[in-house]
Amino acid sequence: MCSEFDIIHRYFRRSASNAVLGIGDDAALIASTTGIELAISTDTLVCGKHFFPEADPYNLGYKSLAVNLSDMAAMGAKPRWVLLTLTLPEDLVKQNIAWLSGFSDGFFALADLYHVELIGGDTTAGALNIGIQIIGEVAAGKALRRSGAKLDDDIWVSGEIGDAALALQHELGQFTLPAVEIEQCLPALRAPAARVELGQRLIGLAHGAIDISDGLMADLGHILAASGKAAWINMTDIPCSSVLKKYRQQSVAINCLLAGGDDYELCFTAPKINRRKIEMLSSELAIPLTRIGEIYSGEGLIVKDAQGNTMTLEIQGYDHFRF
Ligand code: ADP
Ligand code: MG
Repeated sequence: MCSEFDIIHRYFRRSASNAVLGIGDDAALIASTTGIELAISTDTLVCGKHFFPEADPYNLGYKSLAVNLSDMAAMGAKPRWVLLTLTLPEDLVKQNIAWLSGFSDGFFALADLYHVELIGGDTTAGALNIGIQIIGEVAAGKALRRSGAKLDDDIWVSGEIGDAALALQHELGQFTLPAVEIEQCLPALRAPAARVELGQRLIGLAHGAIDISDGLMADLGHILAASGKAAWINMTDIPCSSVLKKYRQQSVAINCLLAGGDDYELCFTAPKINRRKIEMLSSELAIPLTRIGEIYSGEGLIVKDAQGNTMTLEIQGYDHFRF
């Protein structure tokens, strides 16, 4: 049995090097830098809503940080510090210490990869819930905003989308994939790539950006609403895996591509003049970057099929409060 303080000490406390003061006092201290803005964001993972109760703790530690890093990426910010708010069921702490070490290993594996420092948090007992606050740095005035899209911009998507949603459909028993295919899709759901470096490198190249957490249509829709613009995208240009391509004609695949969240790829808009530079960046970072459409004036989002016809869709992104 261990106390709140044992848990913090054993699994989370590390000496701070980027912060003036890390874990151990009533608050952490970070030094401010002239010409730098802080990008601050928080995301919560609720048991039963964002993950299954039996989810592997290593993946959970990894993913809960990844989704927060993704918000930094979408702003073009360099992630620097995190706070971790853990609500842990008593029996989990009593009976399953391996859970905590798995969780903290997964969390720190990703934190170390990006040199992000855990500087504080809170630990309480209750239904399993993981809250993370993240703080990043970005040059003053340079952050990528949802409101930045401009007329005639290209619309780009990083990586491939839809696999996380397809894997989730399988896990929920709503669509059955053969073993080799689910193996290919699961990593997108369990350990999504946060496009941390890409986001920072898009500053100066991209106009508007968002990370795809609620589905392409919903998230691109946020860019359009914030920018006061309209857009069209080509269904067939949306980058996806060979697995998803197989099911392309089926409504499950269309849903995964347009409304499936959880891939945490970036969707951004950029002027056409930057096409070559963006393609070079794609090769340099070895991250596929695909043009899927264009911004125009007005409002709304049109999805075109292979023949260039407007598709009629009944699709919405994920909304926690749609019952
Ligand atoms: P307080 O009573 O002032 O809220 P706590 O006892 O909750 O302080 O926390 C003690 C220290 O441990 C603080 O520095 C806090 O930020 C840190 N801390 C608590 N829980 C966590 C956690 N899950 N991960 C990292 N740091 C934590
Ligand atoms: Mg506390």
